[in-house]
Amino acid sequence: MKKLLFLWLLCSAGYLRAQQRPNIVIIVSDDHAFQAIGAYGHGLMQTPNLDRIAREGVRFDRAYVTNSICGPSRAVILTGKYSHKNGFKDNHSRFDASQDIFVKRLRTAGYQTAWIGKWHLETKPEGFDYWQVLPGQGQYFNPDFLTMDGRTIRKEGYATNVITDDAQHWLDGRDKDKPFCLIVGHKAPHRTWMPDTSDLGMFDNRTFPLPANFYDKYEGRYAAQHQDMSIEKTMRLGYDLKMLPDTGFGKGFFTRMTPAQRARYDAYYKPIEAEFLRQKLSGRALTEWKYQRYMRDYLSTCASLDRNIGRMLQYLDDHDLTRNTLVIYLSDQGFYLGEHGWFDKRFMYEESFRTPMLARFPGVFPAGSTINEMVMNLDIAPTCLQAAGVEVPKEIQGESFLPLLRPPFQAGRKSMYYHYYERGEHSVIPHFGIRTQRYKLIRFYDVADRWELFDLQKDPSEMHNLYGKKGYERITAALKKELAELAAKYEDEEALGLLAKKI
Ligand code: CA
Repeated sequence: MKKLLFLWLLCSAGYLRAQQRPNIVIIVSDDHAFQAIGAYGHGLMQTPNLDRIAREGVRFDRAYVTNSICGPSRAVILTGKYSHKNGFKDNHSRFDASQDIFVKRLRTAGYQTAWIGKWHLETKPEGFDYWQVLPGQGQYFNPDFLTMDGRTIRKEGYATNVITDDAQHWLDGRDKDKPFCLIVGHKAPHRTWMPDTSDLGMFDNRTFPLPANFYDKYEGRYAAQHQDMSIEKTMRLGYDLKMLPDTGFGKGFFTRMTPAQRARYDAYYKPIEAEFLRQKLSGRALTEWKYQRYMRDYLSTCASLDRNIGRMLQYLDDHDLTRNTLVIYLSDQGFYLGEHGWFDKRFMYEESFRTPMLARFPGVFPAGSTINEMVMNLDIAPTCLQAAGVEVPKEIQGESFLPLLRPPFQAGRKSMYYHYYERGEHSVIPHFGIRTQRYKLIRFYDVADRWELFDLQKDPSEMHNLYGKKGYERITAALKKELAELAAKYEDEEALGLLAKKI
């Protein structure tokens, strides 16, 4: 606390003299694992530009999402409300864009607003002076965009570069007398992890160590036993790993490439494919080969993301905007890089529940700080409203994290509430739960009613379900009570109904 106050006093003096309504830039990536960001210290790759945000701003080490999946997370970011309140519970939903979102309030207060890139909320954006979004999941190469005048246009290039170009183009043409709120939505590094042609092969000299629980047998964890998101069984050689791409599902990802792009891809992947076919791998050797290919493609896709974030930071520097712009970087959720043998997300286990989040607010956030308070994607909307001096409506369920980072340096929430709904791809059973500093209690339902309890201090990898074990009766009862209180606080009637049912 004293260190934060000291850092804050050092950085705040100039800002307070020149204070004006800040600009806001939010960069939302898709499926970016905190394990793949240099600043988080996992050593998988270097990300100098994301690290710059952490160095000049703050790194959140306990940032989480309310529902670990793409569309629902964006709906939570926009509304500051849980999925059951904003209506977008799973990726089969359609967002009611007429509802209250923080961007509309900023616009009413005089901000120029734009969303560019991945949107994934199905309905057209509302509340933005400008938008240009990918239809659905979008494409990595030569992506199509939906435009405000109802057309669909195709832009040649690699999605992460094209989206950044479009964001800068919008900034060039904005009214410079008004503050702005720009949200940049990246497709990267979402499945199928297609690297930019310039990044192919950049990790070929690396062999990535298997996570300690790569061969998890899921003992005592029913839902983990029944998922369909493992590198061994679910990950596809063609669709995901670009072997034999001329056949089967995902063919269109390649046929839409220009001849030059395709030639670069073939020059890189065809020799790998030939060697793979020659080896005739099976069993663990095949699974581990898939893991290495996954990591190389995924991290190469992240390298482009990091470079383009660098381009955005450089743009702010070049246009004298850095000093008065709040920059927030986050993913729509975390992602598994082989932990539990998985890729994908959805579960309330740490790697997918937690998201990377970095923020820079010169003169306000103490530079180079690490924040251990629990924050959520739910908090973005009230934080941005408060930063802009706009009243936060009482219906918003998130809490601004500004008071955690500047005097009075309040303590954050004591526990977090989570609810995942989707019944579909990857067969993750719906669940809701609570995480405190030390414990996590999860209630699975629908397909199977099950409880899970983890002591995150003793078992950070969540391998040992302690629910029903002797000695955990008191903590289980306390957590159930707190879970019910949170479900009541957030008015999650479905969860309250399930909690009323004894299992
Ligand atoms: Ca996602």
